[in-house]
Amino acid sequence: MESEGKQITDQFGRVHNYLRISLTERCNLRCFYCMPEEGIALRPRSVFMNKKEIIDVAKTFVSLGVTKIRLTGGEPLVRIDAKEIIQALSELPVELAITTNGVLVDNFIDTFKSIGLKSINVSLDSLQKEKLNRITRREYFDKIMSNINLLIQNKFHVKLNAVLLRGVNDCELFDFIEFTKKKNVHFRFIEFMPFNGNKWDWQKGVSFKEVMDRIDLQYGSSVLRLEDRKNDTAKNFMIKNYCGTFAVISSVSNPFCDTCNRIRLTADGKIKNCLFSNSETDILSALREGKDIQHLILETINNKKSFRGGMDTFKQLADSAHRNKNRTMVAIGG
Ligand code: SAM
Ligand code: SF4
Repeated sequence: MESEGKQITDQFGRVHNYLRISLTERCNLRCFYCMPEEGIALRPRSVFMNKKEIIDVAKTFVSLGVTKIRLTGGEPLVRIDAKEIIQALSELPVELAITTNGVLVDNFIDTFKSIGLKSINVSLDSLQKEKLNRITRREYFDKIMSNINLLIQNKFHVKLNAVLLRGVNDCELFDFIEFTKKKNVHFRFIEFMPFNGNKWDWQKGVSFKEVMDRIDLQYGSSVLRLEDRKNDTAKNFMIKNYCGTFAVISSVSNPFCDTCNRIRLTADGKIKNCLFSNSETDILSALREGKDIQHLILETINNKKSFRGGMDTFKQLADSAHRNKNRTMVAIGG
């Protein structure tokens, strides 16, 4: 399966070669910034892509030039056929990556090793047991930490994601950085983003600038700026002589739309051409009706707005989230 030189390009010339597939809307955690307290309504299995549909759709994207696929969710590893899907997608000519909350990693470590997975993203919003359990509304701190250590021991490149929330975990900023002193992990501090049901208010978030001001004050000239990879959404740093690195993802205060190469596919088979976009294209129904989905994919990406789903101001972002115009994060696939 090769792309034969095809590319998915939008009207601004951005080439889209990175597909994020949500395997499920379900999750074994209830992180309060992601999942509404009441959870989300469960829907019949038939509305979601089955294993074959996921693989067929992925192959179509690869034939159009996609070179990287990330599996996300909800929690991708709660899906009963996750291992088979991971195995099948690993046979495509793409870089395969996974974002997980870490709870089930030990069940999957052999699969990850056998397919040669290199890098894995794990959410970790606190290094304190009580606090992490409060944020996730579940009691898995010990399991998550032991699984992160398991990944490190097995030489995976581990990226740890923390959504920084004022008055919740921002006081742990230096603890997160000190975690990189002896451990070869990459800690990523993510700005709090607005989604349906997460009661977003930018006052609750911590901006890239504030994070870096605090870090510079603490570490001074020991803060080293690292080179960012092309299309990287993160600005990368390390503290001199520490084993690991860290980054800030400024999706809200300084979005990286100019170089965006991402396409999102929800678990129910809709394409979102931007995380913040209010519109979706149903490719699963088209696939089930035997229609050609290639032109739908190309048209959807071509129509992508230049910047943050067409929303220029924080007010527009907040309105969109509060009026339920977008999905919850758990139903998009982060
Ligand atoms: N369950 C997996 C996990 O937690 O890593 C994958 C799905 S989760 C939706 C993917 C990422 O989105 C996580 O790193 C999570 O922290 C991030 N995320 C969720 N809601 C967010 C929000 N409101 N703002 C910023 N990041 C968010
Ligand atoms: Fe689940 Fe991940 Fe959302 Fe937390 S961030 S509720 S683990 S999908």
